[in-house]
Amino acid sequence: MKGKIMESTAVRKIKLGETTSLCAVCKQGISAEIVEIDGRVFMEKSCGDHGNQDVLIASDAGWYREVMSYPAALVAPSRAKNEVDRGCPYDCGACTSHQQKVYLPVVPITSACNLDCPICYTINKNEDAYNMSLEEFGDILDVVRQDDPELKIINFTGGEPTLHPELTQIIRMCHEAGIHRTTISTHGLTFLRHEELLAELAELDARIVLSFNSFEEDVNDKMIGANLLRSKLQVLDLLDKYDVDTTLIPVLALGCNDEEVGKLVELALGREFIRSLEIHTMTFTGQGGLGFDPGARLTTPDVLRFIEETSGGNIRMSDFTPSPCAHPLCYQTCYLLETEKEGFIPFSRFMSREQIRELLTDNLYIEPGAKMEAILQDVVMELWAREIPEAADEAVLKAIKGLLERLFPSSPLDYRAQQRISERSAKTIYIHSHMDDATFDTDRIRQCCVGVPDPEGGNIPTCSYNILYRGRDSRYSREELPLLDSYPNGKKW
Ligand code: SF4
Ligand code: SF4
Repeated sequence: MKGKIMESTAVRKIKLGETTSLCAVCKQGISAEIVEIDGRVFMEKSCGDHGNQDVLIASDAGWYREVMSYPAALVAPSRAKNEVDRGCPYDCGACTSHQQKVYLPVVPITSACNLDCPICYTINKNEDAYNMSLEEFGDILDVVRQDDPELKIINFTGGEPTLHPELTQIIRMCHEAGIHRTTISTHGLTFLRHEELLAELAELDARIVLSFNSFEEDVNDKMIGANLLRSKLQVLDLLDKYDVDTTLIPVLALGCNDEEVGKLVELALGREFIRSLEIHTMTFTGQGGLGFDPGARLTTPDVLRFIEETSGGNIRMSDFTPSPCAHPLCYQTCYLLETEKEGFIPFSRFMSREQIRELLTDNLYIEPGAKMEAILQDVVMELWAREIPEAADEAVLKAIKGLLERLFPSSPLDYRAQQRISERSAKTIYIHSHMDDATFDTDRIRQCCVGVPDPEGGNIPTCSYNILYRGRDSRYSREELPLLDSYPNGKKW
């Protein structure tokens, strides 16, 4: 909808759009307006029973307008499990109105977790824990393979997936199904007691996605319920020892660890085995952010600004590109090329945003292949043509030429070798801003590319899953919540 100035006296309020959200109390679908007020963007909504529930969704309206001009490149799912009946998000899924295929299946293989983190955005059940059987996982593999025969990646979560007794067998099953990029979201502490598990996972080329929130003991205590800083640092050393490709995931909470962004970026760029940093903004689902104030929200542009400030401008807000695989408010991505003399240089300094988005279309990650080769060749030509090249241009040119030679030699490499080379040539910073019931937006969720598959052929978009479905699944939750059938007023599309 076109922007419309609603008031022009004390508060300048511009309507930017309309959507459907949820009441944070009763979880009924309610209409919402997206409005700009004094340079910030809010979702305004009101529940007939529970009143006004306005929420900040972006602290910088300029940034919001900019990213919203980059819509997702939508590829509808090849198959829907449900017809539209009660309306989004009560028909997951996927239902026939879902707009985006799954690029990243997230499989919760266990409900067990031996931590109790206040920031955890899922509900878990440690006693009488559920562990997915190999048969169930085999069915899931069939589902995701049928949905996308080209699928290259699966992520495992829990609970804590390293507590699943057959984790390595599950990874082997992925390989047998032709999916070689497996990522395991973990607190990492199991590896301190069972180093042999990490050694085996390293042998299987599994990637570790390690939760790591802070360098401060008291902040660790507040965020994960225990001061595990020393243990976390030991886990990092173990991952280094086995040279496991690692993604660090900090959850960023306002007034808690937001000032540590610069150190987290430094850590990710400074250690060879860490290939990416995926910053999550604090989300009030699951444990609900116990002890954190939902009113004090960190939004994506806040995180981007912190990164720019703490990196001394080496990484700027403008270096981030909204992923074309998801709604533009979901994933911001900054690829950084490793150069010999100039360190890490954001791709946006030598590529257009369109070129970066082209590289990221069809995948959440840059994949080696003909498209990548063509775009890198174009970049080489453009850099060559510059009349007055800067030092950084020379460094980029050298790095890209070397990369092209290694990736595409006269005797072609197999895909996995290419993938390894390309992953080791750059690092990535992602900002992934999940939604909770306050910020929930059906326009966003309908374009979600991160799905939780089940053995019966279902695939539930992750933010819907965390808010509405996980707590109603007795495998993972002890809670006895009302069935979704009692939520009749989702908006029909
Ligand atoms: S999130 Fe997607 S699958 Fe779920 S109800 Fe909405 S459109 Fe359907
Ligand atoms: S999981 Fe949530 S934040 Fe991520 S892509 Fe899906 S809807 Fe967007």
